[in-house]
Amino acid sequence: TDLAKIRNFSIVAHIDHGKSTLADRLIQETGTVETREMKEQLLDSMDIERERGITIKANTVRIDYLADDGEQYVLNLIDTPGHVDFAYEVSRSMRAVEGSLLVVDSSQGVEAQTLANVYHAIEANHEIVPVLNKIDLPASDCDRVAEQIEDVIGIDATGAIQVSAKTGQGIHETLEAIVKELPAPEGNRDAPLKAMLVDSWYDAYLGVIVLVRVIDGVLRKGDRIKMMQNGSVHPVDRIGVFKPEMTMIDELGPGEIGFLTASIKQVRDTRVGDTITHEKKGCAEPLPGFKPAQPVVFCGLFPVDNAEFEDLRDSIEKLALNDASFSYEMETSAALGFGFRCGFLGLLHLEVIRDRIEREYNIELITTAPSVIYHVHMRDGTMLELHNPADMPDLTHVDHIEEPRIKATILVPDEYLGDVLKLCQDRRGIQLDLTYAGSRAMVVYDLPLNEVVFDFYDRLKSVTKGYASFDYQLTGYREDFLVKMTVLVNEDPVDALSTMVHRDRAEQRGRALVEKLKELIPRHMFKIPIQAAIGGRVVARETLSAMRKDVTAKCYGGDVSRKKKLLEKQKAGKKKMRQFGKVEIPQQAFINALKMD
Ligand code: GDP
Ligand code: MG
Repeated sequence: TDLAKIRNFSIVAHIDHGKSTLADRLIQETGTVETREMKEQLLDSMDIERERGITIKANTVRIDYLADDGEQYVLNLIDTPGHVDFAYEVSRSMRAVEGSLLVVDSSQGVEAQTLANVYHAIEANHEIVPVLNKIDLPASDCDRVAEQIEDVIGIDATGAIQVSAKTGQGIHETLEAIVKELPAPEGNRDAPLKAMLVDSWYDAYLGVIVLVRVIDGVLRKGDRIKMMQNGSVHPVDRIGVFKPEMTMIDELGPGEIGFLTASIKQVRDTRVGDTITHEKKGCAEPLPGFKPAQPVVFCGLFPVDNAEFEDLRDSIEKLALNDASFSYEMETSAALGFGFRCGFLGLLHLEVIRDRIEREYNIELITTAPSVIYHVHMRDGTMLELHNPADMPDLTHVDHIEEPRIKATILVPDEYLGDVLKLCQDRRGIQLDLTYAGSRAMVVYDLPLNEVVFDFYDRLKSVTKGYASFDYQLTGYREDFLVKMTVLVNEDPVDALSTMVHRDRAEQRGRALVEKLKELIPRHMFKIPIQAAIGGRVVARETLSAMRKDVTAKCYGGDVSRKKKLLEKQKAGKKKMRQFGKVEIPQQAFINALKMD
């Protein structure tokens, strides 16, 4: 395709502002898909994504558009993930295109993820076209939101397009703006091949599919390509584009976006952001700025039923084939037996993987307390990356501990500001900035990541009745007075409940934890002490009193079937419990005990 007739773009938006609906409309309006074939939200393919209304994997579609100027254009839309956990993927896929549609719900206004995502677009030097969506809603206020875009983001919004992705109003104008306002890509057809690996995933029929953006040169079927990151060479067996169904073609030239397959065994062998060139006469320099996505949150995944360990291994291996940012290694826990220590990009990523294991592979899981990576500096000058509090070395060898910090941006209506500041303060936050955008406050906090990974987002939503939006980025490591807190149930340490806490908060956290556990652990025939300890010192203690009566006693032995039913119910309940010494702890306790409120 002639470079001048190509437009590559992405859509940036806060969640629920209508990105997927707009993408569907653009596809529908151009007849890329027959209306009767149109499924709701074509681009969100995974079930979980659909249910949660989030887009996880970047996806793409090629749209043929006959513009008002009479020329035929090729529009390539790359759909980027909309969640903070996937910031790295967002920033990479942005570099594969030249422009963005900035979609803002005109009944809501700019939100934290609008900002975070538009900053990625600005960093990638995008031309940005503001789109005010949901103008069919009575609460829509385009003037106010356009002004907010100018004030808060600092881009000109006078020409913002007013759209209803629901009714189709403004869709034609949007397509015209893409052609007129966004720049055509640049590139040299005669230069050595240089292509960016934008995304990759596993397909049951075709194996690993690699999404690429060609910068220079031409990629053809049959070529031998080289991944510049590790030097591996693969023969290309297919080249194609998404319309949105897969359509095979013979070559991709400069400025084009499409996919290739090259009998690559696993997704792990492909790295998002890597540069692809030819084995012979390849380009000299890779694209700048490659860095693999690193997991930041770790937790243990254990089968509730020990007999399912092999099934769990199988499911984790399969999921990992398709997700290079998810890491795992075997872990043994005195309390939980065999399982895996897994690393994730964030809490949402963790939840998605856990859900998929439970749902697609039908394995019930115990998830241990999520932890971040601590840098434990030893007296001998070495540094240990601690992924699991259970592995904390003896304190006599430890010099100091550093923890990861983040910069968090929160947008919130005025009336909830006080609650938000209190929440951030409670989580050891340091306020960096506080400004106003209309009647909304924008607060920026420096926070320890470990205070955020667990339930910060839930708490934020609940104290602001869902009106706050939140985004964060990692900033680095800082020393603090951190200690490992151990939990003992009936005098036995339960390693899966160990956490790292700040020394000043240890008593408070310990008390909250043992009180929670007292509620979560059912009564037994004997009394059970529940303790939180730092080193050998108990900082909080509760006692769960003994059960007085046999649960079946009230059946008087008369109604046998009722008694049987009750016992069966108990047995079913037990499956979700784990035995710790003489005590049974329900599966949910491991997660719920650590929620702070
Ligand atoms: P995304 O999270 O940005 O992909 O948002 P979606 O496209 O999933 O849209 C979120 C919700 O807003 C869905 O319930 C859509 O049906 C709805 N929605 C999207 N565009 C419009 C619009 O123009 N008007 C109205 N009334 N609702 C819309
Ligand atoms: Mg969506």
